[in-house]
Parts: sequence; C-alpha cells; structure tokens
Amino acid sequence: MTVGIVGAGQLGRMLALAGYPLGLDFLFLDKDAKTPGGQLAPLLAGELTDRKLLGELSQRCEVVTFDWENVPVEALEGLPGKARISPPTRALAAAQDRLSEKRTFELLGIATTRYASVDSRESLEAAVRAIGLPGVLKTRRMGYDGKGQFVLREPADLDAAWDALGKSPLLYENLVPFDAEVSIIAVRGADGEVAFYPLNLNVHRAGILRLTRAPYGNAALTRQAQRAAKKLLEHFNYVGVLTIEFFVKRGRLIANEMAPRVHNSGHWTIEGAVTSQFENHVRAIAGLPLGSTAARGHSAMINLIGEMPARDPLLAEDGLHWHDYGKSPRPGRKLGHLTICESTARVRDRRGFKVLARVDRATWLALR
Ligand code: AMP
Repeated sequence: MTVGIVGAGQLGRMLALAGYPLGLDFLFLDKDAKTPGGQLAPLLAGELTDRKLLGELSQRCEVVTFDWENVPVEALEGLPGKARISPPTRALAAAQDRLSEKRTFELLGIATTRYASVDSRESLEAAVRAIGLPGVLKTRRMGYDGKGQFVLREPADLDAAWDALGKSPLLYENLVPFDAEVSIIAVRGADGEVAFYPLNLNVHRAGILRLTRAPYGNAALTRQAQRAAKKLLEHFNYVGVLTIEFFVKRGRLIANEMAPRVHNSGHWTIEGAVTSQFENHVRAIAGLPLGSTAARGHSAMINLIGEMPARDPLLAEDGLHWHDYGKSPRPGRKLGHLTICESTARVRDRRGFKVLARVDRATWLALR
C-alpha cells in the first residue's frame, strides 16, 4: 500500500520512517525534494494546491494524509483517483480557522478561552471591552509557533496590535494565567477503536515548544483530556492521530487549540512509547490495528531550534536519542530534537535539565 503525504516536513518524514517497517510505501507532495520527507521518499514537486499533482497523488496512493494543517481543504476535496483522505477534511477545516475551532470546542462542551471574532478596529474595541485585558489577538488562519499573535496588556496596545495584524480576520481571547501547558495525543482507528497517549507537559518560549515531559498529570486531569479528545474524534468520525493543547488552571483544562495530525509534543513517543504517534497514525489511516500507546518510562524531548548543537558530545550521553531533520538552519526554525527516556521522573528531570542547559540555555534559565 502507498500512503500519500501532502507536505514533506519533519512530521511527514517521521511518518514515513515509522511506516516503512510495516511494509508501506510513501509518496510526498511538496515544493522541493530537499525537504525532510523528500530526502527519504519519492516526492512530487509543486504547490500543495496543484490539482494535477494532487490528482496524481490520489491516483498512485490508497490513502492521502497531510503533515501540515494549513493545506487548503478545497485542494484535497473532490480529487480524481481512488485515495481516501484521512484524517477527514472536516476536522482539517475546523482546525485551520481559530474561530471554527473555538465553536467546535463550545459545541462539544469542551472548556476553552473566552473569545470574540474581530474584523474591524471597532470590533477589536468591543472585544477588549467584553473580554478585558490582558488578552491575545490572533490571526484566525495560518498562525503557528506563536506567529500572528499580539498580547495586549493595556488600552494603549490596541493601536499597535491593530497595525500589526489588522489586515487579516482575527480572534481576540483572554490571556490565561495558566499553571502549566499540557497536550493529549489521541488516535482513532478505521474501525472506531480509540487510544490515548499519556499527557504531555509542555514548555513554550516565544510561542515555540521547547521541552516536553511525559507522562504527566494525575488521573483527574488525564480523564478531562481524554473526554475532550474522544468527543472530537467521534464528532469528526476521525481516523488518525489528533492532538489537543490545553492550559491547566487550578486543576481544570482549558482547550487552546487542536491539530489534526501528529504533534511536536508527541515526538518522545518514538523511543518512549510502545508504539510511536507516527506509527499509530500510519496504522490508523492504513486500516491496521492500533499499537499500544503505553509509555516505556519517563521521557523528555528537547527541540533543537535555530541551529544544531555539536552532535558527537551529545551522542556520547548514555541513552540520548538524536533526531536531525536535515533542514538548513534559520532563527526560530525547528531543525531536530533530542529524547531521553528514564526509569523515573526524577532521573529524567535531572538528566533532561542538564541537556537543556547545554542546548537551550535561555529556556533552562527561564525554568530554574
Ligand atoms: P498557539 O499558537 O495558540 O498555540 O499559541 C502559542 C503559545 O502562546 C501557547 O502555547 C501559549 O504558551 C501562548 N498562548 C497562546 N494563547 C494564549 C492565551 N490565550 N493565554 C495564555 N497564553 C497563550
């Protein structure tokens, strides 16, 4: 069976790496072959919206998935050819627009931030009056890694926020004084079987994920996250991996956003879970039985952002796993990640923080 992947970034690459041992083949669609996925598997080179190339992908594959949630939904719908599209485009559409995402959370009774849609300077003023300060103004579409966001702390910030983002449809929400950020990664098989990975505890800096530790949280927190994920999976008749990111405030979860795909906060599952999020996504969309989502120990995943550290001294660390996505360095760009998996959370934290101090001093200093 050949799996088509629209977008050949590091997520696509890790999907293919997980799927080859299952006997599957992969075909990517992306702009050029030097992408992380293109270094590994055949690739159709062109725009992600190119109807001809999408048609070819759909002819040559049994199932088509995506590694980026901003693939235009219209491009995927109504493709000639035999391929199924998984996850469903309805979930993709909801996740692409922060307003539909919030409405979906509300519809399903999943607690989320207070929000208002903003499409004019007047509606921004009304939103700030209704929701209050501090708050975050976000572009409804195409935001990732903290891009397209502006934090408003006082009325004088309105002008700068509007100047920065006013050209796009926007959403204003309250700034949550969270105790922690967590995410859940869930998977639903073609037969409706649902499985959950343990909760991830995530640390962001400047809007970008830096560190994930898992498993995290007590049974009550885990139950809340699993309930939310199950509702979304069933609502969309979903097949594949789905991620929800939450703020934790006084033991309650507040949904921030969802991603209809494998997620950076689940990279630890490659070495730290019985079956990785990548393998389970591939298993689900290929109609195979799901694998166990149980953790093998206590993992820490550290993102390598902007530049790669020297590899060899890190590889000399016992049990450290090195992942290089084959990308050229650029400030703020995710280039790779490291994972350690230990038998206790204490050892994991002690070792994890030592490694963090070496590769991301600013985050380490912020956490001390
Ligand atoms: P997002 O792109 O919405 O995931 O935002 C990236 C990061 O910015 C989040 O992981 C948080 O650390 C922070 N952030 C975004 N929205 C809020 C909010 N409403 N309250 C507090 N922090 C936020």
